[in-house]
Amino acid sequence: MIDKVKKEFAKRFGPGAALYTSPGRVNLIGEHTDYNMGFVLPGAVDKGIYAAIKPASGGVSHLYSVDYDSEVSVDLAGDVLPKPQWAKYIYGVAQEMAKRGRKVPAIDATFGGNVPLGAGMSSSAALESTFAFAFNDMFGLGFTLAELAVIGQMTEHNYVGVKCGIMDQFISLHGRAGHVLKLDCRDLSFEYKPFDPAAAGYRVVLVDSMVKHNLSGGEYNERREQCEAGVSIIAAHNPEVKSLRDTDPATLDKYRGEMPGMVYRRCLYVVEEIGRLLDGCDDLDAGRYDAFGAKMFATHDGLSGLYNVSTPELDFIVDAARACDGVVGARLMGGGFGGCVIHLMRESVADAYLADLQVKFNARFGLTPRVIGAVISDGARRLE
Ligand code: ADP
Ligand code: MG
Repeated sequence: MIDKVKKEFAKRFGPGAALYTSPGRVNLIGEHTDYNMGFVLPGAVDKGIYAAIKPASGGVSHLYSVDYDSEVSVDLAGDVLPKPQWAKYIYGVAQEMAKRGRKVPAIDATFGGNVPLGAGMSSSAALESTFAFAFNDMFGLGFTLAELAVIGQMTEHNYVGVKCGIMDQFISLHGRAGHVLKLDCRDLSFEYKPFDPAAAGYRVVLVDSMVKHNLSGGEYNERREQCEAGVSIIAAHNPEVKSLRDTDPATLDKYRGEMPGMVYRRCLYVVEEIGRLLDGCDDLDAGRYDAFGAKMFATHDGLSGLYNVSTPELDFIVDAARACDGVVGARLMGGGFGGCVIHLMRESVADAYLADLQVKFNARFGLTPRVIGAVISDGARRLE
C-alpha cells in the first residue's frame, strides 16, 4: 500500500512528498461507557491510512484516493464542500483548523489504506488523523495531539454528519505499540497500560459476524435515554450524581424499585462495565491475560443479556470462543447489532480455533466470517 501511494504521487505530482500514516483501532473493553462519562481502553492497530503529501503552489489542492481511484481539486480554505465522501474528511480537517485560526495551505496528496471497511476499526478516524497530523507537522501549526483529535471528531460532526465520540481519533493519534490507552471520557485524561499479547503467547483477532442488523440510530439513542433516565432517578436523591460514572451497583440497587426494569438493566450493565474496565487495567498491570479475557466474556454477557445489543451471529461466535480452551476472552466490539467479535486467544490454539469457527459459522449462517488480525501499534507519525 505504501509503495502504491508513493508511486501514484510520483506519477501525478513528481518527487519530494512526505509520507504520513495514522492507524485504525480496537477497543479491548469499555463499550457504551463513553457517553456515560466512563472509560474506554482502545489500542491502535497495524492497519491504517498512508498519505504522500507535498505543499502546492496556488490555492487549489489536488487529492487522489488510490483505493477509490478518484481525484478531486478543492480549495481547502474555500467554502465549497467537495463531492466524494472521502474528500470531505480532508476538507473538514482543514476547515476545522481554520476555525481555530490556523489556515492550511494548498497541497498535492495521494493516499490509500488497509483498515478493513465495515469492521468497526474506524477507518474514518485514521483518515482524519493522518491529514490532521500531517498538516500540523508539515506547516508547524502547533496543535496538540488532543486538539487534533477534537478537530477530527468535529470534522465528522460538521462535514460528514456523524455525531461520534472522541475515542477513535484520540487513539489513532496517541497509539503506542505494546500499550492500550485508558481514556477517561469525562475529562479526556489518559494513561497507557501495558498490553503486548504476542510477547506473552497470545493473539488478538477480530472475527466479522458479516451481518448488520440495521436497527438504525434509534436503538443507540434509546440506550442513551435509558441511561439518562436512570441517572435522574438516582440524582433525585443524590444530586452529586451527574452520570452513571458517579454511581455504583449498590447505589443503583437502592433505587431499583423506582426504575422501570429495562432502565435498571441498562444502568446495571454500564455501572458494571466501568468497574470491569478498572479491574481489567489491574490485570494488565500484572500481566494477567487470562483474567483480563474473562472480563471480555463478562462484557459480552452484559451487552447481550442486559444491554440487548447483540445478535445471533455475534452470540454464536462468542459461544464458540467460550467452548474453546485457550480462547481466553471474546466480546462483540462496537455499538452492537453487528460488526466484529474481538478475541484474546493463546497463540497455540488460534489457527485451529479460527478454521473450525469458520466451518461452523458457515454451516449455521451460510457465510464465511472474515478473520482480521490486530497487532497493537504506534499512532500517527511521519514515515519518511
Ligand atoms: P469506519 O467505521 O471504518 O470509520 P465510516 O463509515 O465511519 O467507517 O468511514 C468510512 C469512510 O471513510 C469511507 O466511506 C470513506 O469515505 C472513508 N475512507 C476510509 N478508508 C478509506 C480509504 N482507504 N480511502 C478513501 N477513503 C476512505
Ligand atoms: Mg468512522
